[in-house]
Amino acid sequence: KLMSYYEMTPEKYKDKELEQLKSLELTGRYGPYEKEYIHKNGHWVPVRLSGTILEKDGIKYIWSSVEDITEQTKAKGKLRKSEERYRQIVETSQEGIWLIDENRKTNFVNKRICEMLEYSPEEMMGKDLFDFMDEEGMSIAKDSIAQQKVSGVDHLDFKFLTKTGAFVWAYLATSAVVDDKGNYIGGLAMVTDITVRKQQEVLLRNSETFLEVKNKELERKNKELEQFAYVASHDLQEPLRTTTSFVELLQRQYKGKLDQKADKYLDYIIQSSGRMEVLIKDLLDYSRIGHEKELQQVDCNKIVQDVLADLDTAIAETQATVRVASLPVIQGYPTEVKQLFQNLVANAIKFRKKDTKPEINISVQKRKDYWEFAIKDNGIGIEKEQSERIFIIFQRLHTRTEYKGSGIGLSHCKKIVELHNGKIWVTSNAGEGSTFHFTIQDNYAGYTKNQVNGMTNKTAATTEKNYAQ
Ligand code: ADP
Repeated sequence: KLMSYYEMTPEKYKDKELEQLKSLELTGRYGPYEKEYIHKNGHWVPVRLSGTILEKDGIKYIWSSVEDITEQTKAKGKLRKSEERYRQIVETSQEGIWLIDENRKTNFVNKRICEMLEYSPEEMMGKDLFDFMDEEGMSIAKDSIAQQKVSGVDHLDFKFLTKTGAFVWAYLATSAVVDDKGNYIGGLAMVTDITVRKQQEVLLRNSETFLEVKNKELERKNKELEQFAYVASHDLQEPLRTTTSFVELLQRQYKGKLDQKADKYLDYIIQSSGRMEVLIKDLLDYSRIGHEKELQQVDCNKIVQDVLADLDTAIAETQATVRVASLPVIQGYPTEVKQLFQNLVANAIKFRKKDTKPEINISVQKRKDYWEFAIKDNGIGIEKEQSERIFIIFQRLHTRTEYKGSGIGLSHCKKIVELHNGKIWVTSNAGEGSTFHFTIQDNYAGYTKNQVNGMTNKTAATTEKNYAQ
C-alpha cells in the first residue's frame, strides 16, 4: 500500500502543511520549514523541509529536501533549558547583577539589585549608571570603568543612591564585557549589599576612637598620679621631716619645763607626724607596685614559708596555727606576691577574736586557666555590706585603738592581684571568720607597662568615687 506523506504527518502540523502547499501553488516553492513525521515505530522525527515544483514530460513533481534535525532539536532544547536555569539563578541570586553597555546604559538588572536600589526593573532599564550615584561616586565609577577596560576586572566598595535618596553600601566585583574582537562593549557587576557591615565598621571606628580617647585620658591620669607620688615623696615628706625634728627638739629641750598640757600636745603632734610618715610611705609603696619589673617563676611554698618566718613573733605571741597546703609555682612578681600573702596572713592574725587562738588555713585550687587561692581564718569576720569597701585605699572598719593599721593593706593586695590578671574577694560571716580568695592566671605572660598604668588609675578612680560618696 502506498502511503501519502500527509498520512505520516501528525495532526498538529496539518494546517501548517496546507499553508506550505498553498505557497507551492502560488510561488512554485515552499519552505524551508520545520515539522515532524511519524516514524514507522510510532515516535516523531523532527525534520526541516523545503521544496520546489519540477516538471518533466509535462508532469509536475514536487521535489522535496527532507533533513533530519533530531540532533539540532535536542541541542536547542538543552540550550533552552540551560538558559532557563541561568535565568532562574540570576533572578533568585542574593547578589545584585547589573549589565551596562559601552555608554553606561543599563541593559540588564536582576531582582536583587532592583530591591537594593528601590527601583523596578523597567525604571532601571536604559538608565545611565551615573543616575544611581552622587558626584563622588561618579568619579570613582569612572576610574573603575577605566580600570576594567585595562585589566578586565575591578573590585571595590561602592555607595549607591537609591530611589528614595538613601545610600546603600555595596561590594562590587565587576568585569568587562567584550565582543569577539576583544572590544569593550559594556560591564557586568555583581553587587553585594554591605550596608550593615559598613555601619558596623563605623560603630567600631567610633568605639576605637572612644577607646583611644579613654586611653589618653588614662595616660593623663596616670601622669597625674605619678606627679602625686612625686609630691608625696619630696614636697610632703620634707616639711614633715622638718616639723617632726623640730617638735622632737622642742620635746627634748622643753619636756617638764612647760606645763603638763603642753607636754601632752607635743606627744600628740609627734604621734600624728609619725602616722603621717607611715601613710605617705604606704602611698608611695602603693604607687610603685608593678613598676619596671620582670615576671619570674615564683614558688608560692617558698614565699609562704618566708612570710611565716617574718611573722614568727606575731604567730608565737598569739599562738596561731597556720596550715599550708601544697602550693603551685606561678609566673609572677616575687616581691609583690610575698607582700600579698604577708598582708593577708598578717590580717588573719590581727583581726582575731579575743580569747580565740588564730587558726589559719592556706589552700589553693586549680581552675580552668587560673589558680584560686584561699586564706581562711577564724577571726572576727566581716559584714557582707563591707566586703567591697575594705579593698579601697585607706578604708578601715575599726579605729586605730582597736586594731593598728592604716587601711592600705588590702588595696595593696587588690593591686597586686590585678597585676597578675586576677581577682580578689572575701567571703565571711561576721563573727565566724573570713576567707580571702584571690586568683592568679596560670602561665601568666604579664601586662604591658601601659596596662599596669591603666590599673593604677582604675584603683585610683575607685578611690575617688568612694571619697565622693
Ligand atoms: P588595715 O589592716 O591596715 O586596717 P587593710 O586594708 O589590710 O588595712 O584592711 C582593711 C580593713 O578590712 C581592716 O581594717 C579590717 O576592718 C578588714 N579586714 C581585713 N582583713 C580582715 C580579716 N582577716 N578579718 C576581718 N577583717 C579584716
